[in-house]
Amino acid sequence: MTSDIRPLVAGNWKMNGTRSSLDQIRAIAHGVSGPLSRKLDALICPPATLLYVATTLTVDTRLMIGAQDCHQKARTGAHTGDISAEMIRDCFATHVIVGHSERRQEYGESNHRVLLKARAAYDQGLTAIICIGETREERAEGRTMEVLHRQLRGSLPDDATAANTIIAYEPVWAIGTGQTPRADEVAKVHARIRADLVARFGEGGETIRLLYGGSVNPGNAKELLGIPHVNGALIGGASLKAADFLSIYHAY
Ligand code: PGA
Repeated sequence: MTSDIRPLVAGNWKMNGTRSSLDQIRAIAHGVSGPLSRKLDALICPPATLLYVATTLTVDTRLMIGAQDCHQKARTGAHTGDISAEMIRDCFATHVIVGHSERRQEYGESNHRVLLKARAAYDQGLTAIICIGETREERAEGRTMEVLHRQLRGSLPDDATAANTIIAYEPVWAIGTGQTPRADEVAKVHARIRADLVARFGEGGETIRLLYGGSVNPGNAKELLGIPHVNGALIGGASLKAADFLSIYHAY
C-alpha cells in the first residue's frame, strides 16, 4: 500500500555552498536525528565539491548525503568536468539526482540520457532520484500527463525498484518561482504517476517514492506534504538554510 511508504525530505543545493556552508549541514544533521527520524528520512545534495566532507560530517547521524548529477558512464573515462557514480559512491554518498529540469534544459539531456544515468547509479548501488515535470507551455496546452508519461517511460530503467529509484515530480514552472500547483492538481498528477508506475512495474510500482518539488517552503510544506500520494519533497532554495529545511521536515 502506498500509505506505508516512508517519506523523504530532500534538499537540492544546486550550485550553492562552499566550506562556510558546512555549518548548515551540521545543523540539519543535528535537527533530523530526533524522534521524527523513526518515520521520516532526510537527504541533502550539496555540490560535488562538498560531498566527501559532508558525508564525513554526518557519519553518525540520520542525514543522508547525495549528489546532484552523474555521468552516464558509471566509472571512468575521458569526460572532462564530469563525475561518475563510482566517484559519488567513493565519497560515501548514497543518492544521486538525475534528469533535473535545469540539466535537461541547460544541457539538453534527453530522457534516454537520464535513463543511462539512472543505470549508472544502479551499477554503483546508488539510489537515483529521477526528476520529471512539465513546462508552463506544456501545462497551458493541457499536455501535462502526456509529457510526464513520456518522461517516465523514457527515463526510468526497466529494473527500477523502490530500493534504487525515487521519482521527483517538479513542474518546471514551479521551480524557483514561488508558484505551486493547487493541492488538488498535485494530488491528481501524483495519483496518475502512481497509476503509471503500477501499470509498468506491477506491485513494485506501488512502493516507489514519489516526491513533489517546486517552491516548497516552510509556509506551504504542511499542505503539500499532506497531499495523498506525495511521499516527501525535493527542496531547492529553502534547503540552503538549516532553519528552513528543518521547519519543512518538522511539518510532518
Ligand atoms: P525550488 O527548487 O525549491 O527552489 O523551487 C526545487 C528544485 O529545483 O529541486
